[in-house]
Amino acid sequence: MPYQKFFLNHYINLPYMVKIGYGKIGRVGKYLIDKGLSNVALFWSDGLEELLGGKLYKGFEQNDIEVVCNKLVQYINIEEINRVAFSLPSNTDAIVGVGGGRVLDFAKYCAHLLKKPFISVPTSLSNDAFASPNTALLVDRKKTVVKSTMPFGVVIDLDVISKSPQIFIYSGIGDIISKLTSLWDWKVAYRKGYVRYNDFASLLAYNSVDLLLQMPKYDLTSSGFLKNLASSLLMSGVSVEIAGTSRPDGGAEHLISQALDGCTKRQRQHGIQVGISTYLCALLQNNPGIEKIRRFLSETGFFDYAATDPLSKEEYVEALQQAPLIKKDYYTVLSEKESFLKAVDLVETESILRKLIR
Ligand SMILES: [Zn+2]
Repeated sequence: MPYQKFFLNHYINLPYMVKIGYGKIGRVGKYLIDKGLSNVALFWSDGLEELLGGKLYKGFEQNDIEVVCNKLVQYINIEEINRVAFSLPSNTDAIVGVGGGRVLDFAKYCAHLLKKPFISVPTSLSNDAFASPNTALLVDRKKTVVKSTMPFGVVIDLDVISKSPQIFIYSGIGDIISKLTSLWDWKVAYRKGYVRYNDFASLLAYNSVDLLLQMPKYDLTSSGFLKNLASSLLMSGVSVEIAGTSRPDGGAEHLISQALDGCTKRQRQHGIQVGISTYLCALLQNNPGIEKIRRFLSETGFFDYAATDPLSKEEYVEALQQAPLIKKDYYTVLSEKESFLKAVDLVETESILRKLIR
């Protein structure tokens, strides 16, 4: 396996504006004008303008923000993004995306193409993409993750988050805990001489989860938990930018989820697939954090929730076979010869996994 290259002295972009709290939607206009951004292109997920438009527009009016383009996003194929980005008026100061992963990726990539600031306004905490430099787009009808730019601003309204369907919170829980297995894969890949390592990015990614692990109990509806989950996912996204590689965010558990996307009849939320696979990979790795992972996923109710809609065993085993082939020259625990059979055995025999994969 050749030494994996990545930039040692790459430019790092960090969000300048980070607002997490209640009632933040109505303040987006104020945050924009404070940064001198008054003409915005606005992108929405389906159904959200009706829900949140009233508060957002009121704040825009009070702060003289002009909406130069207002668009509902349904498709994320790269040709459509190109077309929309280059048809925006030249006086556009910033791109604002309000909604789920698809619209945020659309808006983020538009901003990246035009080199304009992107303000990310996620309406759920289902994964860390709202604050990561990566974007998932359709290229030739295939989902492809491409590097774009970190958001300039992230505004998270906990009123909106707390009303989002519960599955999104569980998905966020599954996505954030995966740092423990992806960091292990990164460290082992480094020790074997395959990749470079970035201590600071790794520390930041670890601490992003630790913020949640240190909580004495988990009340998924409390402001304390939602605030911590939001900042954890944000810091996790930032660690990817600092590392200059998806390593802090992409170990074996993400490869399994990606493989599953390709072979399952019915995809589950990204973080649900990733959370289940994190538990399996931690067992495969003899990960020192296994007890923390088990406790976190049990006490937050993630395991019980995921068990209500188990993954198909047949499809999961196929994904386990495909996962190590997804990224060339990318060491993870699944690259070890004996891992596949061990993983299948765990799926068959481990008491928690048997409830999640059937
Ligand atoms: Zn993820």
